[in-house]
Amino acid sequence: MGPASGAELSPNLERTLGDAIMEQGRRDPQYVTEPIINQYLTELGQKLAKHSSVPLHYEVQVFGMRDRTINAFALPGGYIGINTGLMVAAESEAELASVVAHEIAHVAQRHVARGMTQSSESSHIMLASLVGALLAGLAGSADLAMGVATFGQAAAVDRQLGFSRQAEQEADRIGYHMLQGAGFDPNGMAQMFKRLMHSSRLNESPNAYATTHPLSAQRLADVENRIMSTPAQTYTQSTDFWFVQAAAAVLQAQGGSALLSVQQRLQEAVSNQSGAPKAAAYYGLAYAAKQRNDKAAAQQYLQQARQVGVESAALDSLQIDVYWAQGQTEKAWQLAKQAWAKWPNNQAIALDYVEALQKQGLLEQAIPFLEQRIQQWPQAPRFHQLLAQALDKRQQPVEAREAMAQYYILVGALSSAVDQLQQARSLSTDFYQQSKLDVQIRDLRERLERDRLLLERFKG
Ligand SMILES: [Zn+2]
Repeated sequence: MGPASGAELSPNLERTLGDAIMEQGRRDPQYVTEPIINQYLTELGQKLAKHSSVPLHYEVQVFGMRDRTINAFALPGGYIGINTGLMVAAESEAELASVVAHEIAHVAQRHVARGMTQSSESSHIMLASLVGALLAGLAGSADLAMGVATFGQAAAVDRQLGFSRQAEQEADRIGYHMLQGAGFDPNGMAQMFKRLMHSSRLNESPNAYATTHPLSAQRLADVENRIMSTPAQTYTQSTDFWFVQAAAAVLQAQGGSALLSVQQRLQEAVSNQSGAPKAAAYYGLAYAAKQRNDKAAAQQYLQQARQVGVESAALDSLQIDVYWAQGQTEKAWQLAKQAWAKWPNNQAIALDYVEALQKQGLLEQAIPFLEQRIQQWPQAPRFHQLLAQALDKRQQPVEAREAMAQYYILVGALSSAVDQLQQARSLSTDFYQQSKLDVQIRDLRERLERDRLLLERFKG
C-alpha cells in the first residue's frame, strides 16, 4: 500500500499517532510530571475546549515542558505542550488561556494533522522517519534515547509547519470564542499578542512561538475589534494560576545563577504584590528552598505564604512534603487528612494522602482509596501504578499486574501492557480469571496490530 494521504488521516489514526508520540514524550526529561501543573493545564484546556465552535474528536490533554523558550505546540490527537517559559511570560491567567485556546483551535481545525501529511516534501520525510521510530516502539524494540529523539522530532514537525495566515486567523477566531465562553477576560488575548510581538522584536527572550504562529498587526487588530464588540462582564481568574506559574519559574531554572535570578524575581514579587500573587511568590521561594534541601527556609517561606491569607492546595501539598522531610510525621499525617477533606478534587493532594496512608502502614485504606481515585480520574496513570504497588505489598500479584497493565495502556505502552497481562495469566490459578485475562490479551494484541498497520501506511 502506498503512503496515506492527508484525507486518510482519520481522527482515530491521529489519536493513535498522538498516543504513540506521548508514550515517548512522558519519558522525556523535560516533560513536567508535577501534578499541580499538569492537572491545572489539562483542566484549563478542557474548560476551554467545551466552548469550541468546532467539535473536537478527542479529549484535550495539556502538559508542561520544562523549557524557558516561550512556546506551545500541538501534537496529533489533541495533545498540547506548553513550555514553562510561556507560563512564566503570561501576566494573567487569561493570557495563558488565550494561547491554550489558540492551540486547541488548531487541533479542532485539524491543522496539525493536515499539515503533517499535506504540507511539503520535508514534512513527509519527517513523518515517515517519525513513524519508523514509532513502529520500533510498538514492537517494544525502541530504547529510551530513541524514544526521546522521536518525541523531539514530533514536536519539531509542528514547529516546522509554520501555520498559514488563514489557519492563524481561523485559530484566533475560534480561540477567542473559547476564551470568552469559558469566562476569561478576552483582553488577555490582545495583551498576550503584544507581549509576544514585543519580546520577539526585542529578541530579549527566546521566542519560538512567533516563528510558527506568525504574528501580525492584522491579527492584533482583529482581536482588538472583537474585544470592542464584546460586552463587558465579570471574568474568572483562579488563584491556582499564580502557584502554577511560580512552580514553573523554579522548575525551568537550571543551574545556580538561573535559580538565583528566579529567587530575586520572586523576592520582588513578594514586596510588590498582594493577595494570591504574593502568596504564590512565597510558595515559589519555598519550592526553591525545598529543591536545594533547605528545609528550614522552606518552612519559613511557607509560614509567610500562609500569613497572606490565601488558601491553596499547592501550599498544603508542599507543606506536607516539607513536614515529611523534617521528620514531622504526625504533622504531615494530620495535614494530609485535612488537606484531602478540603481539596477533594486535587490530584496532588490525593497523591500526598496515599503516600501518608502508606507511611502510616494503612495499606487496607490505601487500596480502596486508590480504587476510588481511579473512578474519579480514569485518565490519570499514576494512580494505577500506585495501586499496583499496594496490591503487590498485599500479596496480590495477579491484580497488581492487571493494575500495571492499565497504567501502560493509559501511557500508550501497549506491548508492555500485554507483558503484564501475560505475567498475570501465568500467575493466576483461577480458571475464570485466566479466561478473562485471555480475552484482554487478545483484544490488546488486536489493537497493537491495528496500530501497526495504520502506521505502516505512513512509512512512505
Ligand atoms: Zn497558530
